[in-house]
Amino acid sequence: MSTVVAIDGPAGSGKSSVSRAAAKELGFAYLDTGAAYRALAWRCLDEGIDTYGPTDVIESLESFEFSIGTDPDRYFVRVGSEDVTDDIREPRVSVIVSSIARIPQVRSFMVALFRELIASTSRPGIIIEGRDITTVVAPDAAVRILLTASEEARMGRRSAELAGVSASVTARELTSRDAQDSQVVDFMNAAEGVVTLDSTDLDFEQTVQAVVSLVRSGTQN
Ligand code: C5P
Repeated sequence: MSTVVAIDGPAGSGKSSVSRAAAKELGFAYLDTGAAYRALAWRCLDEGIDTYGPTDVIESLESFEFSIGTDPDRYFVRVGSEDVTDDIREPRVSVIVSSIARIPQVRSFMVALFRELIASTSRPGIIIEGRDITTVVAPDAAVRILLTASEEARMGRRSAELAGVSASVTARELTSRDAQDSQVVDFMNAAEGVVTLDSTDLDFEQTVQAVVSLVRSGTQN
């Protein structure tokens, strides 16, 4: 059985890049669950599936062919045979992803998918990150972390990532996505037994090292 490390946090907390770098250092697999929700949203846009109501989105799950790289050195996201690794980060995807992620049938589909991916890893451990990982997907994980940062720090980091998109547009998108997402799962407050790691005053490498040491100390028995 591999060691499961669950990391949750709001948009722009740096959890994807931090989780991936920590997985690399630990020799673990890495699973970005937000990418699966984004891939489904991308597909709805690509195929003109109506996302205003849940019916068509739920129906589309049956033929949703998704694959993701869990090797931190070979990350990719595919829908069918199409590589959508970069396309799923586009703002047009970010603005609709929350409305899809709130559909209960979508969530249960994703939870089952993530558990299968966790079970199929051949590495000694897996870092899985998202919004509901510490509470719903892997509440029994050996290490559970809530990665936070002040709103200002999160917005600064996200606009540095999205070159060409204005800071105010990024800030608006991020705030409204967090507000919508937190109606579905509480990822702003740590559940019992979950360690809060505040990265506001830490740089990227310090945050990675903080995660690596939490994993090492949490799995030393
Ligand atoms: O992590 P990222 O910002 O890429 O996630 C994109 C969206 O996917 C989130 O805004 C949220 O709506 C949804 N999500 C979720 N549960 C997860 C991961 C992501 O609802 N575990």
